Amino acid sequence: MAERHIVIIGGGFTGTTLAIHLARLGEAGLAVTVIEPRAQPGQGVAYSTPDPAHRINVPAARMQLSAAEEGDFARWYQQSGADRQDPAAHWHDGKVYPQRGWFGAYVADQFRLAAQSCVRLTHCQDRAVALRDGLVTTASGKTFRADEVVLAISHPPPAVPQSVQQALGGHPGLIANPWHPQALAAVGVNERVVIMGTGLTMADMVASLAARGHRGPVTAFSRRGQLPRDNVSGDYAPRLLDYRQAPATARGWLRRVRQEVAQAAAEGQPWQLVLDDIRAHAQQIWQQLPLREQRRFLRHLRSWWDVHRYRIAPQVSQALQTWQRSGQLRVLAARLAGVGAQGEQIALRLGPRKGAEVCLIADKLIVTTGPAHNALLTSDRLLSQLAEEGIIQADPLALGILVDAQSRTLNRQGTANAHLHVVGPAARGRFGELMGLPQVAEHAEAVARQLVGAAPLTP
Ligand SMILES: Cc1cc2nc3c(=O)[nH]c(=O)nc-3n(C[C@H](O)[C@H](O)[C@H](O)COP(=O)(O)OP(=O)(O)OC[C@H]3O[C@@H](n4cnc5c(N)ncnc54)[C@H](O)[C@@H]3O)c2cc1C
Repeated sequence: MAERHIVIIGGGFTGTTLAIHLARLGEAGLAVTVIEPRAQPGQGVAYSTPDPAHRINVPAARMQLSAAEEGDFARWYQQSGADRQDPAAHWHDGKVYPQRGWFGAYVADQFRLAAQSCVRLTHCQDRAVALRDGLVTTASGKTFRADEVVLAISHPPPAVPQSVQQALGGHPGLIANPWHPQALAAVGVNERVVIMGTGLTMADMVASLAARGHRGPVTAFSRRGQLPRDNVSGDYAPRLLDYRQAPATARGWLRRVRQEVAQAAAEGQPWQLVLDDIRAHAQQIWQQLPLREQRRFLRHLRSWWDVHRYRIAPQVSQALQTWQRSGQLRVLAARLAGVGAQGEQIALRLGPRKGAEVCLIADKLIVTTGPAHNALLTSDRLLSQLAEEGIIQADPLALGILVDAQSRTLNRQGTANAHLHVVGPAARGRFGELMGLPQVAEHAEAVARQLVGAAPLTP
């Protein structure tokens, strides 16, 4: 009997987790190929970082491939001996925040184990460049006939703003891709650094610079100047909210969350418990909001949601706070009003929300504005081909690729394609909260069950 072949394009956390679930659930006669240019499956953008200062932003006990395996990474981390190599991972409240690379190693190990099942599971170290008539072509010229293809491509590098690109394209002081393993290699210890963006990648950059003994001043700016918040310290039982009377608007949800946070505070509980429960229900909440309200959320509330929802490891928070207190790190709520090269240096004008314009001279400018998800379809040759031929399209919120409730892509005419799925953050337009590990793992598992015809997991 001919094998059924599922080809997964992109072997970061999402694509690799999908492959692992397929191998666990599938039967003999199923072949799964993961096409991923990195040498190791499971790493992707987030977990390929070799920098020891980059830590997972939730405790290890909350990182796993499936809700049924709670604590699996934490156990692996301890048993593999990785734990003993990094005492700084242990925070004083007993929680463990490993270096992100260890999580990538864990996923790669689970892939290796899954490859021992009766499903034929392989990693092809290559890049997919075209998909036509069920045939996937790679950059090196290999072709794979696929019965089903799953797109698991999520995070393009940050977009360099046009004004910066025009003024500094090719300038040695511009660090456009902060995720490049050598991104900070050319930063001298006494150099003046400006960071554009104040989210998680900025926090990574500051932690890395601090670990290298950087002595020069660092200025980070973003429109609101908001920094990612801290995780809760200590152990609390989950706070379960009542979703029966759900608001129908973004503003209604803002009011509700404020009430819930005030109520929690009155009972001596931290706001993080409220946000954690909302996050666990966020896909349901998102899908109940009409498109108009989803747009309002993105325009007015997203930056607030992001800083409360994406938190940082306490080790990273400590690095930020130490530098802020000493004055080495300055965080501004400002927009970029002007930028230009001055020989080897970079001149910047920042327009703060309050007060007079700030003029800075920097040796390095690092762009940490987050993945350019709105440019996903043009960021990759394969996705561009599929979009140009009308096989896929961007979702109306420009968060990723348009899919239906079964994660099937919708072509230009709006017809669902049962042979081409999207898994992971690129399907966020439909599902809303689909970025952090638990939700991405759950999505990968649900799509795997769908592809092998297994019953869906009941919530
Ligand atoms: C910097 C960063 C840190 C994060 N830290 C945490 C954390 O600590 N905790 C947490 O819960 N969540 C974290 N997240 C969020 C979450 O873990 C990610 O959303 C998740 O890892 C998504 O992985 P992915 O595989 O979908 O995407 P990606 O990591 O983008 O992987 C996609 C893969 O596709 C490959 N690819 C791209 N194009 C092609 C092509 N044409 N052919 C073949 N392969 C291709 C790429 O090489 C890449 O490896 C983080 C996210 C980022 C960006």
